[in-house]
Amino acid sequence: MEHYKNKELWFVTGSQHLYGEETLKQVDDDSRVIAKHLDSSEVILLRVVFKPVLTSSEAIHSLCQEANSSSSCVGLITWMHTFSPAKMWIHGLSILQKPFLHFHTQFNRDIPWKEIDMDFMNLNQSAHGGREFGFMVTRMRLNRKVVAGHWKDEKALLRIGTWARAAVAFDDARKLRIARFGDNMRDVAVTEGNKVSAHIRLHYSVHGYGVGDLVKEVEQVEDAAVKKLIDEYAETYQMDAGVKDTKFLHDAARIELGLQTFLEKGGFGGFTTTFEDLYGLPQLPGIAVQRLMDKGYGFGAEGDWKTAALVRSMKVMAEGLPGGTSFMEDYTYHLEPGNMAVLGAHMLEVCPSVAEEKPRLEIHPLSIGGKEDPPRLVFKAGPGKGLNASVVDLGNRFRMLVNTVEVIPCPDMPKLPVASVLWKPMPDLKTAAEAWIMGGGAHHTGFTKALNTEHLEDFAAMAGIEFFLIDENTTLAGLKDQIKLHEIYYLIAGGFR
Ligand code: MN
Repeated sequence: MEHYKNKELWFVTGSQHLYGEETLKQVDDDSRVIAKHLDSSEVILLRVVFKPVLTSSEAIHSLCQEANSSSSCVGLITWMHTFSPAKMWIHGLSILQKPFLHFHTQFNRDIPWKEIDMDFMNLNQSAHGGREFGFMVTRMRLNRKVVAGHWKDEKALLRIGTWARAAVAFDDARKLRIARFGDNMRDVAVTEGNKVSAHIRLHYSVHGYGVGDLVKEVEQVEDAAVKKLIDEYAETYQMDAGVKDTKFLHDAARIELGLQTFLEKGGFGGFTTTFEDLYGLPQLPGIAVQRLMDKGYGFGAEGDWKTAALVRSMKVMAEGLPGGTSFMEDYTYHLEPGNMAVLGAHMLEVCPSVAEEKPRLEIHPLSIGGKEDPPRLVFKAGPGKGLNASVVDLGNRFRMLVNTVEVIPCPDMPKLPVASVLWKPMPDLKTAAEAWIMGGGAHHTGFTKALNTEHLEDFAAMAGIEFFLIDENTTLAGLKDQIKLHEIYYLIAGGFR
């Protein structure tokens, strides 16, 4: 788990001195037990580190300072074991720069009806203590996730684990660098956006390069490395005889190696290409993009840096989960009454992590670009639940749209040799397409079968961007109201604090 090792969540308990040393000792012991339980949970991938119980404004402030400067801490889990007067949280929370989750739990699961007394009450006050803390976070207009439930409740732990994945992706985004070869394609609007705003809000940075910079790296790749990579292709994928020795495949392997070296040297976690600008490259990178995505790089075609960053974050969140995550495009519709579906694909660049079977490596002409025939991996995704996500720049904010889908079996398409996914969008194609378009969603998305909507919602909340869900409960009337309300909210939200 590359992204998760060495990362921690800090378990932070609030209390106060009023209860006396003995109670605080018990609070401390109980907190250690809960922190240990969370730490050992299989659904929370990170280490959960116990931090001494906090009973003063100074201690909270210094804990928050420590969290801000720790490179291993990706977030805090706060718990109010007893009543913790929330004025003492103001100083600390006002400087906290890490995401936090309020775990609204109680040490005892059940009320011991026969034995319950005031001592029990001193130690089981989350019911009102958590509300005091919650008021302050709401009063300060801070983002946080609230999870209620007993600390042994697996569903509650799963929700914490989901948030933890988003916290790791958000931490990754703070250091994320996207390489952009060429500009965005022609006059496409939705792939554009304000990179400065993205840097401030979503933290990642976007760096532009001429394709010639990449070509230089590609030209330095040694023949032996190309040959070795082609052998790897032959072992990993289905391939017709004859493909192996083509110049097209050699050029593709050379591009992959050059591209990977370029990304590694620059510390990039994602990249974009554009078929409009291939100066000096013999072909549009196809299999190279597919395989680099499979290794965890984010990707956006046609200069789409927002989608490249989104795919990267989705891949970080999805690490170790079954299902796969890829760059995707709404390619074409099947509008048969009663059986409507969307064919998702791209010219070349779909990640083989979503493949149901061993992909086939094929070489076919591309009818645009006027370059060599690009090798690509051809496959289909297996059935099951999935989602598409898109981030668009609305001028005053970023909006993340998410649409849940049901992936269904895709018939053979012998004359369309691309990797593809066929899905039924929720609640139905017509409503989903109308809602998506009303919401300004892009044709490029991050597609995943590994994540659910809560991962994306938690991630959007951490970044403070708008979250816009289209699922089985969506109605067009409700959605139109939501759009209007959000416009008002984001117009004045900056003034709330
Ligand atoms: Mn496209």
